[in-house]
Amino acid sequence: MTTIDIPAGSLFGVDNLPYGVFSVGGGSPRVGVRVGDSVLDLAAALGDEVFAASSLNPFMAQGYDRWVAVRERIRELVSGEVPDGAVHPVGRVTLHLPIEVADYVDFYASEHHASNVGRLFRPDAEPLLPNWKHLPVGYHGRSGTVLVSGTDIVRPSGQRKTPADAAPVFGPSTRLDIEAELGFVVGAGTPLNTPITPDDFPRHVFGAVLLNDWSARDIQAWEYVPLGPHLGKSFATSISPWVVPILALEAARIPLPGQSNPLPLPYLRESKPWGLDIDLVVEWNGDEVSRPPFREMYWSPAQMLAHMTINGASSRTGDLYGSGTISGPEKHQRGAFLELSWGGKEPLTVKGEERTFLLDGDEVVITGSAPGAGGERIGFGEVRGRVLPATQD
Ligand code: CA
Repeated sequence: MTTIDIPAGSLFGVDNLPYGVFSVGGGSPRVGVRVGDSVLDLAAALGDEVFAASSLNPFMAQGYDRWVAVRERIRELVSGEVPDGAVHPVGRVTLHLPIEVADYVDFYASEHHASNVGRLFRPDAEPLLPNWKHLPVGYHGRSGTVLVSGTDIVRPSGQRKTPADAAPVFGPSTRLDIEAELGFVVGAGTPLNTPITPDDFPRHVFGAVLLNDWSARDIQAWEYVPLGPHLGKSFATSISPWVVPILALEAARIPLPGQSNPLPLPYLRESKPWGLDIDLVVEWNGDEVSRPPFREMYWSPAQMLAHMTINGASSRTGDLYGSGTISGPEKHQRGAFLELSWGGKEPLTVKGEERTFLLDGDEVVITGSAPGAGGERIGFGEVRGRVLPATQD
């Protein structure tokens, strides 16, 4: 038997305990929990075959009461002794996509982001469209291209046409961007015609990840009218490998910035809001360029789930939904380079060079942390991606 050392100030203490899928050497992927700088093999530690799976889905499907019970059991284990073979240094494991993604939806819940994009894409109109404060606007994305952190991103090619061009041209995107978001993972789904109320959010959503919604702005600007984003975003969406349980985020729960004018319709009202005080940091080639604050989001993740199911649509274990780009009111809180460079007109300085959108070889790392139950902060780890040259001219 052995004990797990948790370094002082670790973002992965006993109040966090995020789940992931890992392998060691040539072994098969299995479910683990991050504790300090170690990964605890749950199948080995708990003797439960549900954790020998290559995704969190079988465990998540067991439902809320099991999530609570297993978390309690892990907290007991890591404060005592665990079997020798069940602990691995995090630096020696390979981390995999933690969930088998069912459906993927992306929202647009930051008023600051939606207003900035409105001004950039529709300069002669009101920045927010009339529906925006009445419902969490979203679109269905491509679940098959959700990738784990560290996966390289090949620059997409596609059609683009600026208003000055007579006809569209085809080629590699020249305005490749990021969107710093949180992703929410549905653990326990619902059958058809069973809407989820906002207050039932923690019984259905298992956890949260960092999410980078890679976006080709030139492809998006030409294709998005009237049905929304398509190929400008479907080529890649990266997520962090550790799923932070909603049970760990209770201490980060805060009110929303304000929904009084207009008041949301009754199906979107929360008896206690699920605003979350989560801080993100965006690094571009190692330089910090932004600190997006999730606390500024207009719509909560509980309202997003309620909206997604109010029409009778079912939900499934492994459904993933993104919050939309997280942007605050200040310039250094904007979660996309489109906004940080104001459409490319106000370049940023990255490693001493003036930059607007991503160049081949660039790397973006998004990290995040939140207050934990015991007063220490808890971490989300990181979502990292590097841009490779286009494969189609
Ligand atoms: Ca997005």
